[in-house]
Amino acid sequence: MPELPEVEVTRRALAPVVEGGVVRDLVVRERRLRWPVPKALERRIVQRKVLCLQRRGKYLLWRFEHGTLISHLGMSGSWRIYRRTAPSPGRHDHVDLTVEQPQGVFVLRLTDPRRFGALLWQRGGERALRRSSLLARLGIEPFDPRFDAAFLYRHTRARRGPVKQVLLAGDLVVGVGNIYASECLFEAGIDPRVPAARLSRRRCERLAQAIRAVLAQAITAGGSSLRDFVDAEGRSGYFTLAARVYERNGLACLRCGAATVRRIVQSGRATYFCPHCQRR
Ligand SMILES: [Zn+2]
Repeated sequence: MPELPEVEVTRRALAPVVEGGVVRDLVVRERRLRWPVPKALERRIVQRKVLCLQRRGKYLLWRFEHGTLISHLGMSGSWRIYRRTAPSPGRHDHVDLTVEQPQGVFVLRLTDPRRFGALLWQRGGERALRRSSLLARLGIEPFDPRFDAAFLYRHTRARRGPVKQVLLAGDLVVGVGNIYASECLFEAGIDPRVPAARLSRRRCERLAQAIRAVLAQAITAGGSSLRDFVDAEGRSGYFTLAARVYERNGLACLRCGAATVRRIVQSGRATYFCPHCQRR
């Protein structure tokens, strides 16, 4: 499943092709994604200029003067870029978006076998976008300068649930999916079962740092796959994280080398941690 780093790498791959370009065509072959692709979408964006491509959580925001195209990769979605024309579409190639730039014409193709992705329209500017039902309840961006120890400390005082679930909920900070939650808590040396409300300021500091470092590392690692987006065959845009604790249950901890990584289940999701390095 694409996580925040994959979406950010996708954004970086698409941005040079999309930003400042004019949409010349939109072909939707399958409207039944997670929510139906709006019928009026073609009318709204064809012959319009994309001002910029932004990201909020796992949503890509294609900003136009009169509104925003909001796209999501869901469970299995990916975008690919073709110069001039795309090959004949396969069963899961649901959307082709043609963008014209001074340097040429590009076809951006959305492929999504499981169809949990989304392609929606939000009219209006920044304010309407921030208030849209999809984005309104998202937590802060991990790379937002306001996300720091003080923020984490302040916003966890009333959260009695285990810190892992609080991170996973996404309403405090976005981008910490199931794999990254285990990785971040391992880096920060915090037991995933500790109630978030009990984290000290110092531990909040370590956790905020770990979240930024782990996600930044994943984005950097994925950056090496940027060229795979253009004229590529097969799946592109996903990459494997060099996990330090995730799915390493039964193996020696990579930090202490003495303890064995344990796997537990929290709210139906697997969590991995070192009982020696990660304290309650
Ligand atoms: Zn350890």
